[in-house]
This record gives sequence, structure tokens and C-alpha cells, in this order.
Amino acid sequence: MNTCVVVGGGISGLTAAILLKKRFNSVYLIEQSENLGGLLACVRDNLGNSYDQGTHIPEKTGIAEIDEILFDDNDLVESWYALSPLKTGNYFAGEWDNTTQTIDASKLPRHIYQQGIGEFMTLVDSPDTTNIERYISTTLGPTFYQHLSKPIIHKLYGKEIDCNELAVRTGINYFGASRIKAFDKDTTKTLKQLPFFDHKLGFHSAAEYDELLESLGQDTTQYYYPKGELGAQTWVNNLAKKASQCGVKLVMSSHVVDIKSENKKITQVTLNDGSKLACDLIYWSAPPIFALKAANLEVPNVSLSFRTANLLHYTFNEKPLNDNAHYVWNWDPISPIFRITLYHNIRQNSCYQLTAEVLSSKEESEHITLEKGLADLKTLGLISDSARVLSSLKQTVHNTFPIPTHAFANVTQAQFEQLTNSFDNFILSGRFSGRCWLQNDVLKLAYQEINQFCAYA
Ligand SMILES: Cc1cc2nc3c(=O)[nH]c(=O)nc-3n(C[C@H](O)[C@H](O)[C@H](O)COP(=O)(O)OP(=O)(O)OC[C@H]3O[C@@H](n4cnc5c(N)ncnc54)[C@H](O)[C@@H]3O)c2cc1C
Repeated sequence: MNTCVVVGGGISGLTAAILLKKRFNSVYLIEQSENLGGLLACVRDNLGNSYDQGTHIPEKTGIAEIDEILFDDNDLVESWYALSPLKTGNYFAGEWDNTTQTIDASKLPRHIYQQGIGEFMTLVDSPDTTNIERYISTTLGPTFYQHLSKPIIHKLYGKEIDCNELAVRTGINYFGASRIKAFDKDTTKTLKQLPFFDHKLGFHSAAEYDELLESLGQDTTQYYYPKGELGAQTWVNNLAKKASQCGVKLVMSSHVVDIKSENKKITQVTLNDGSKLACDLIYWSAPPIFALKAANLEVPNVSLSFRTANLLHYTFNEKPLNDNAHYVWNWDPISPIFRITLYHNIRQNSCYQLTAEVLSSKEESEHITLEKGLADLKTLGLISDSARVLSSLKQTVHNTFPIPTHAFANVTQAQFEQLTNSFDNFILSGRFSGRCWLQNDVLKLAYQEINQFCAYA
């Protein structure tokens, strides 16, 4: 095959470009900004300390061709920290649980827990999947929904969100908060043998999950973190280098302004500087609206909503008070922080850095401050009262986590169908396709779409 144009240089586009270069003679990667990596990046504060843009801990996908691109097995020990089992924990009801991220219902006031557990035990029918509120209310029960899940939904999507409008697949599921801890370890293990309890009870530790996988003869998940002071950026830089070395032409600060086609086949794209590229396939990982415009197709009159990520980065003069977890969750409504990355446990060094993540609307973002974040970290008992901040940085990234309403699903589905029905040689993938969000899912979708296209081309 001749020429492929990849649009968007995040992890989706970068990995796809390397995969596609094995299948096409020429591959152009068109990125609108001056940097590759998209949401995967690192920033430095005024002392030069580096932090990731979110919690980015790569894991193996289980697809040999992708894992070879991402990790390069020859280089694994030299260039990566192995982080398996991934250590996490969570804060809820004024206490830390350092063994699991799963929220513990038994920490609720006694009378609420008792009411909730009665409902929980009797709900054994198929869940109602109309929306997240109905889903949780028919799996965990209305009491646990009200006291455990709703506050987490508010933390992730804002207090004004109408939970009836949210699809089932939301952050609460992909962050593992739709399963709970409600009993002692042995009772959980016994109940989890039954499918209707399995999907609503979480493991008490990552090791238990690994044991299950081993007993089923499945591989345990392998997590890694790049060595080198630039964290996730090191990973992106290596991928960019690999792309260049295998012959992908990186076209930065550029975007597609026109898409020309004949009989449903894209034949040429025009870039903003006027240059024209002959094209046998477009792999599009940027917002689809730009493809619709460039192809002169109808553009929906609805804007999609995303959350703003406020990343509060700190370097302290002493260790945070958790000397174990790679990152931890805060499920308690006491603070808007929902997750904290503990770099000294990941990078295995004595530079005491952390990133606290807060999601908000664009407007609320200016009220989220480093000072307030620091006070919250002390209230959570993660930082001692005596700890001093050596350096810090607030980073604001708009348009990150999608607000997964039914409207969002309908618009992204309509855009997907409009583009893929209009052209036989157009792949819409990456997080903007609305079909994936987690890094690993983005990579798996890229692989699946490319192989499917090449099998029929
Ligand atoms: C704070 C935060 C925390 C996260 N936590 C996790 C986590 O715990 N686990 C997990 O798996 N994932 C997490 N993610 C999500 C993960 O980072 C993303 O889903 C993934 O990186 C998306 O990759 P992508 O390539 O699809 O999109 P992006 O990274 O958004 O890349 C899209 C690229 O397209 C470019 N572009 C846009 N418009 C155009 C255009 N018109 N022309 C050309 N280029 C264009 C952009 O500049 C960008 O480089 C997190 C993200 C953030 C921000």
C-alpha cells in the first residue's frame, strides 16, 4: 500500500503511525501542536522537578506487536521500573486503606451500612443499565448509591450533573469504584464465586486479583514506568524517536484543511500550508469535527463536554506519609482531590514529589489552588504538618475527561457513522472517537482497527 496520513500525535496516533509504517510505503503524522504525546506529557517546575500530566503508568497490552513498540523487551530492565503488582490505596470516611483502591462500605455509619447491606444482598437480578444511577442502585443498592457512589460521581463530574443523564460506562467504572468492599476477606472471596456478587464486590488487594488470574491460567498485568527524569515524557520521546527511525514523516504545527474523495475513497488531503498529500488511508485520532469540516460533511450543532484537569504538583523536603503506594485514591468528599501520584514510590528515589488531581469545569478551575491542595493533603494525613514545599506548580489542562452523557454517546456515535459511512478508507480512533479513554484501550483499539482495515484492503 502507498500512503497513509495519521492525524493527531497522541499515544493513539504515534503508535498507529509506527504500526502503519510496516504496512504502508509512506506514513505522514500530522500534529497540530509543536509537541507529540497529546495528553501524555510531563511538566517541570521552576526548580526543574518534573511531574506527569496525570497518572500515567503504562501496562503491557498483551498484543506482542504493540508491546514490542511500546516497551522493547531488550530494553525492559535497563529502561523501565517494573511496578507489578501495582500498589494503590484509598482514603474514605476519615481513614486510609493501604491495601486496595476499593471503597469500604463498612466504614459508613452503622445504621447506614446495615440498611445498605440488606439491599445489597437481595439485589441479585440483572442490573438496570439505563444510566449510572439506575445501574448502581440496582447492583449496590439505593443506600450505597447515595452514600458511596453519588459523592464520587459528583467529585468526577461536578455537583450539578444530572446522574440520570450519565451512561453506565463512566469514570466510576473505569476507576474501579462500581465495586465495593462490604465484608471481611473470606466472605468476599466466597461471595465472589457467584457472578451477581462478583460484579459488585472488589478484591481486598491486588495480589488476590493476580491469584485469580493465575488460577485461570491467565497472565497477570505487567505495569512499568520509564526510568529517566522526564517520566511519561521519556516514553513519548522514545516513541517519537522510533516513529522517525522507521521512516514516519512527522509534520508538526499542522492540520488538515481539506479532504478530497472519489467514490467513497479518500484520494488526497490538503494541509494548512497548502501542501497536498496523496492518500490511501486516513487514521484520525484528533476531534472528528475537524475531519467533518475538512470533508465538507454536516457538522452537528452540539458541543461535547469535557472536564478540566487541575494538576497540583509539589516537591516536599520530606517523605509523604505513605511509603508504599504508587498512587492513591481519595473517595472521601472532604476534598475535591480524587487521586494522588506518589513519585518517590514509583521512581524509587529520594525526591519527594506528588501530583494531586482535581477535576472541575473550566470556570471552577481558577478557584483550585496549590494552597488549598496543600491544606487538603495535610487533612488527608498524606503530608505531615511539618513538611515544607520546596517547589510546586499548578497545571490546568482543559478538555480531558469526557462527561459521558447519553448526548455525548449519541453525538460521538453519529460522527463516527457519518465519517465511516462516507469513506471506505477512514479510521476514526483514539479517545476523541468516544469509543475509548484509558491508555490501554486506546492502544488496543488502534491495533484492532488497523488490522481490520488491512485485512480487507
Ligand atoms: C489528568 C489525566 C489523567 C489520566 N489518567 C489516566 C489513567 O489513570 N489511566 C489511563 O489509562 N488513562 C488516563 N488518562 C487518559 C489518557 O492519557 C488518554 O486517554 C490518552 O492519552 C489519549 O490518547 P489519544 O492519542 O487518543 O488522544 P490525545 O492524547 O488527546 O491526542 C490527540 C492529539 O491530536 C492532536 N490534535 C488535535 N486536533 C488536531 C488537529 N485538528 N489536527 C492535528 N492534530 C490534532 C492533539 O494536539 C493531540 O496531540 C489521563 C489523562 C489525563 C489528562
